Parts: sequence; structure tokens; C-alpha cells
Amino acid sequence: MARPLVAHIDLDALRHNYRLACELAPNSRSVAVLKADAYGHGAARCAQALQDEAPAFAVAAIEEAVQLRKAGIEAPIVLLEGIFSPDELELVDELGLWMAIHSPWQLEAALAHHPRHPIPVWLKVDSGMHRLGFAPQDAEAAWQRLREAPDRVTDLHLMSHFATADLGDFEYFRRQHAVLQTLAERLDAPLCLANSPTVLSHPEAHGDWNRPGVMLYGSDPLELSCDASRRLRPVMSLRTEIIAVRELASGEPVGYGGRFITPDRSRIGVVACGYGDGYDRHAIDGTPVLVDGQRTTIAGKVSMDMLTVDLTHLPDAGIGSEVVMWGTSRHGSELSVDEVARYCDTISYTLLTGVLPRVPRRYN
Ligand code: PLP
Repeated sequence: MARPLVAHIDLDALRHNYRLACELAPNSRSVAVLKADAYGHGAARCAQALQDEAPAFAVAAIEEAVQLRKAGIEAPIVLLEGIFSPDELELVDELGLWMAIHSPWQLEAALAHHPRHPIPVWLKVDSGMHRLGFAPQDAEAAWQRLREAPDRVTDLHLMSHFATADLGDFEYFRRQHAVLQTLAERLDAPLCLANSPTVLSHPEAHGDWNRPGVMLYGSDPLELSCDASRRLRPVMSLRTEIIAVRELASGEPVGYGGRFITPDRSRIGVVACGYGDGYDRHAIDGTPVLVDGQRTTIAGKVSMDMLTVDLTHLPDAGIGSEVVMWGTSRHGSELSVDEVARYCDTISYTLLTGVLPRVPRRYN
């Protein structure tokens, strides 16, 4: 018998979520963001599942694009951060990649390189995130220089990233959007702007291209959910089992540090899942899990290979009972990764990308 912890990946749900992104933005093309191994879901399998519908994929680094090409993915792949050194341009050319250009050195490198085919380029503008991109006042000159080199670069777009699209307060989002609109009008440039929260709740900022990521995996990034985000289906279900049960008297400490003290006579289930699998060690007492489809909570600190849950009110649960850390249960109930993330004082992105390689992925 193998250790029971498995990340089940529902590729139908992935396709459903991708189609939702397209339905919400009927005038945009949606590049499926597959960076960080498709947010922990397995980039090659996710790309294969989407390749009949997605016109392009996006990754953070060239190594990720190489993996996709090795897996037989022929669709365009865009490097969201562009190249990390000029010598990567050879491979960009050879693999037929698209790339962002966010810095003057990247611009110079692209203009100095003579590719076999001009490279499609998204010029990244810093419209207010203040992370990557040309300041709006510098973007115009960069755009003109790229326009003047059609033998080297082609299919130019302006690209930008929103810092606050997920928040209920739209003020800063509107400021960023206004900066981009002004620039796009002046340059007559097509746009690529929308991440998942923008796809879900800001149709006015859908571009020629959108870049949905986390919503493809069924997580709702919005501070205030909307009708569209409630239609997302979870893709990853992190399922395992109870491997031992302790019957404890009232007042007994459980786990490292003895921080959790049984408030009464208690049944504690030991679950095969820990931070050595990527489950967040910051999960506090009270973090929900599903045992045989019913909600209960973590009781005690997360260990490397195990954690403990309260089974006191689940008398039928025992060794071999299914435990869902997030996702869907075989019994039909669901626990969202977003809810678990709130208990860990983090976001779904870190939980999903944090599932470590020792957890086997199983695809439907
Ligand atoms: N575009 C860029 C440049 C990003 O860095 C990311 C993710 O961090 C995305 C798109 C996708 O964002 P999300 O997962 O919120 O949809």
C-alpha cells in the first residue's frame, strides 16, 4: 500500500474554467498562464488538456517553455518576464517563443539580435505596480524603436499588470487602467492586461489578449466573490487518509509544542499530509479539512509528514477514512483552497504552487 496522499487533478474542471475565462471576455484571446508548473498542477498535462482551445500559453522562464516544447506543445508560448540574459534569444528564436520586454537592456538585446523569424513582443509598461516595466513616459520611445525593427520583432502589444484588481476598492485599479488607455490610444497599440481578477470583474480592462492564471485552477482571487467567480470549479483535490486514531482524555496536549489541548474527551485522527508535502505549516487550529466528506478541523501543529484533526464529532471516521485538505471529496462535498489559505494567512497561489514533487499527481 502506497502512502495515500495524492493531488488529484481534474482536467475537465481546468477546461471548464478556461472556457469561463473565454466566455467572460468574448472579444479577447486568452493565453493560459502555466508558470510555476501550472501553479503546481503539472504544466505539460495542463497544456495538453488545453491545447485544442488555448491559442497560446504563458510561462515565467525559458526553462518552462523548453519543458512544454519537449511535451509536444506547439502553440505559441510567451515568456512573461522575457529573457534573463541575451544568449537566451537564440532559443527564443529556435523554439518560436514570444516574449515580454520590460527593461532597456532587453530592448537593446532584442534589437541587436537577428532572428530567423521576427519575434512577437509584448512591451511591458509599469502602470502602477512598480515591479517590472517601462515607465509610461519611456514606453513611447521603446515602442517606436521596436516598430522600426520589423525584421527583428513583430506583433507588438503593450502589456501591463494590475496590482489591485482583486480588491473591492477599485480606485487604484482605475488609475492604472487610465494610464494604459491613454498610452494605448496615443500609440494605437493593442493591449494585454487582464489577470484572473481582471477577467472576472473588470470587463472594461479586457485586452486583445488576457492572461488568466489562478482562475484556471479554480481559485477565486477576488476579495468580494462575484457570480462569475462562483462558477469556477476546483482543479486540484489534495486527498489523503487517516492513518491512526488516538482516544484522549480532556486536557491532553496534541502534537509539537503541546499547543492544542483537548477541551474534552477527544478522538484525534492522524492524517498522512504535512509540510514535507507542501501543506502550509502555518495552518492554525480550526483550519478546515473534510473527513469522509464532512467538515472538521486541524487540532495541533502541522508536522513534516503528518497532521492531526479532531474526529470527536465523527464517530464513524477511522483509519482509512478519506481526508481532503482542499478540493472535492469522493462524497461530493467541497472545501475551497481559498478558504484554507485564509486560515494559513496566505493566498491560494502559495498553497497550490507549494505542493511538493513527492506528492503524486493523478489526472482524470
Ligand atoms: N500575468 C502576469 C505578468 C503575472 O505575473 C501573472 C501572475 O502572477 C498573471 C498574468 C496571472 O495572474 P493570475 O494568476 O492572478 O491570473
